[in-house]
Amino acid sequence: MELPAEQEPLPLTVAVRALCAFTAKAGDLDVRFTPAPTALEGIEGHAVVASRRGTGYQKEIALSGRHGELLVRGRADGFDPDKGRLEEIKTHRGASALARQPANHRALHWAQAMVYGWLLCARDGLEQLELALVYYDIGSRQETVFTQTLDAEALRLHFVQRCDAYIAWARLEQAHRRTRDAALAVLRFPHADFRTGQRPLAEAVFKVARAGRPLMAQAPTGIGKTIGTVFPLLRAMPGQQIDRVFFLTAKTSGRALALDAVATLRRAEPDLPLRALELVAREKACEHPDKACHGESCPLAEGFYDRLPAAREAVLAVPVWHREGVRRVALAHSVCPYYLGQELAHWSDLVIGDYNHFFDLSAMLHALTQLNGWRVALLLDEAHNLVDRARLMHTGELDQLSVRGLRHTVPKALHKPLDKLNRVWKALNASESNDGADNTYRVLPTLPEELMTAVQQAATAVLDHLAVYPTTVDAALQGFLFDALHLGKLAESFGAHSLCDLTPSRDGRTSVLCLRNVVPAPFLGPRWAVAHTATLFSATLQPLAFHRELLGLPEQTAWIDVESPFERRQLDIHIARDISTRWQHRDASVAPIAALIAAQYTERPGNYLAFFSSFDYLDRVAVAFEAAHPDMPVWRQSRRMSEPEQAAFLARFAAGGRGVGFAVLGGAFAEGIDLPGDRLIGAFIATLGLPQVNPVNEQIRRRLDALVSRDTGSGFDCAYLFPGVQKVVQAAGRVIRTPEDRGVVHLIDDRFAGAQVQALMPRWWGLESEPAADSAE
Ligand code: SF4
Repeated sequence: MELPAEQEPLPLTVAVRALCAFTAKAGDLDVRFTPAPTALEGIEGHAVVASRRGTGYQKEIALSGRHGELLVRGRADGFDPDKGRLEEIKTHRGASALARQPANHRALHWAQAMVYGWLLCARDGLEQLELALVYYDIGSRQETVFTQTLDAEALRLHFVQRCDAYIAWARLEQAHRRTRDAALAVLRFPHADFRTGQRPLAEAVFKVARAGRPLMAQAPTGIGKTIGTVFPLLRAMPGQQIDRVFFLTAKTSGRALALDAVATLRRAEPDLPLRALELVAREKACEHPDKACHGESCPLAEGFYDRLPAAREAVLAVPVWHREGVRRVALAHSVCPYYLGQELAHWSDLVIGDYNHFFDLSAMLHALTQLNGWRVALLLDEAHNLVDRARLMHTGELDQLSVRGLRHTVPKALHKPLDKLNRVWKALNASESNDGADNTYRVLPTLPEELMTAVQQAATAVLDHLAVYPTTVDAALQGFLFDALHLGKLAESFGAHSLCDLTPSRDGRTSVLCLRNVVPAPFLGPRWAVAHTATLFSATLQPLAFHRELLGLPEQTAWIDVESPFERRQLDIHIARDISTRWQHRDASVAPIAALIAAQYTERPGNYLAFFSSFDYLDRVAVAFEAAHPDMPVWRQSRRMSEPEQAAFLARFAAGGRGVGFAVLGGAFAEGIDLPGDRLIGAFIATLGLPQVNPVNEQIRRRLDALVSRDTGSGFDCAYLFPGVQKVVQAAGRVIRTPEDRGVVHLIDDRFAGAQVQALMPRWWGLESEPAADSAE
């Protein structure tokens, strides 16, 4: 790969925090639950400290300075001109946590204060400066202040030392960036030609990257969406100065497709200087699940930052950092593979991870993007999952029963706050019951402030306890803490987009408190704004307005409905208009559905999948089918199948095989599986896939009715119809996988004949919309 002609060093810019994070971290990794205040509490803490200072106190002072080609900039928390003191303010919760703060955390804070100190000395020509670390306890509202006075020259030397360490690395990075961009600017499509639909998709991705807009791309299976989106975005990187591409998926299978796409590019261009990283979840990467993530507990956390540079260099020697490769290097250098993966995100061009990595409340890739000012581009695979996944990320719950259970296992010191929490909770249950409906699910009109306070107080007590006993690994206690802190964060931004509800236990003595997100748009909107461009792609993104509104995508989001490579004649579609799968007609539907499956199988023996809305419905039809047709092979999906069991289920769909697999809509076999040719020749889909009507879904329907614009749809459409039909289309999409496939789909319910439902089906199915005899509702 040739280097570009221009070899002058480009100017480098770094934020003070990022500079120190890179150059001043040493010692153990320590990510134990510390009494971390929420973001809002942090802001309020800073404001309280500032309000206690004199009138001349300066807040948020923008400072910058150069060393060689490196520009360092940031905002110092405060300067007290009366005392001549520059302050770095940190908020915390609980005195014991501060007392046990790891030395390397304190050293990092000092490093930041010293860099700001030099920038201020240089700006104002100071010869000496007092520096202060101000630790503000948001519980007691007390400050603990550490100070030191340093000469300007000492601060300058410290600054130069940091900058030199950073520049050495940054130059290597700059060289990689030049080489990468030169290669990507002339990157060729790795196949001889584009498939049908693949070129317009690639062009659309390239155009929105140039325009800096999001794109929703509905593109059928089989056109090569992954390479059709990865390739144009990589091509756009140099021109748009995109620092990183994040390929985000809902499932592990999506990550494998992205890694395949990288492998395909690399086969065509073996020297492609592109660093691709696979990020995995902690539970999949952790080598010591029985330990906690700090040096006192886990050997791979001890001395992590001391060994990190060598591990990082070893990884950089290979271009693709997939899970196994990262693990090998990590273990060879005795560092944690999970946290090594996180560190590598700094140095990757293409990061392949989960939606959570960019969208959840503490998303690592989002935080890094903001901290480093990266220009990033997002690719979201199987994006029809994002509404549900985003709701889950922004939903939290706490079960009173498990809180009561803690009382028997935790040390005495924690009894008092847990008892108080239970008392407040009990009173809330009783007061709600007195309001009328007893022992029923209910939505609270506002956040239960007293209960939320008691939850946070109990969480603080647990945090303090863990700070004193850092090697404690009590899964139940950790689980409570995680849930309580998550609820606290959600409470900060609680609003109409979410429900606060109580679900009583069967005996009515306890309840589950839930902050349940319904419309994730307010959470996701700011995330789209951070990204230069984003492409959301899936085979089922209809209706556009539903996804755009619920995901908070901006108005200027582009849309493309990519032509299918498949033809109408490849797929026979039958609508069983004489069968109703409505709840009240389920019993009557069982025998006709079994007969329909048998008739199709007899007419054309082969492999089929029959989908149902629930395991209960699946079992009833499967039992009837097996009783009436014992000669026809049947295999059933069961609840909570392990990965080997799922693989065995799929292995039954051998080429040339015969039998009927019974599965649930929305389950493991209804999406993301590929059974081309005669491995699958038909599907039966019973019900419209509508979610169950229950009190929670009804509340969601009402809330959507109130919040979503009429142009998008009614509450029923958004809560039931759209998600249901999406599952149907996904399941039916298992049948035709290549332009050579032939197959049949039986849509079993009279409502499939309705115009509103048919409008949500893929265009290439060519369904003739008929006047709706019955609404889907
Ligand atoms: S190996 Fe596991 S316990 Fe140890 S630091 Fe890594 S994630 Fe934490």
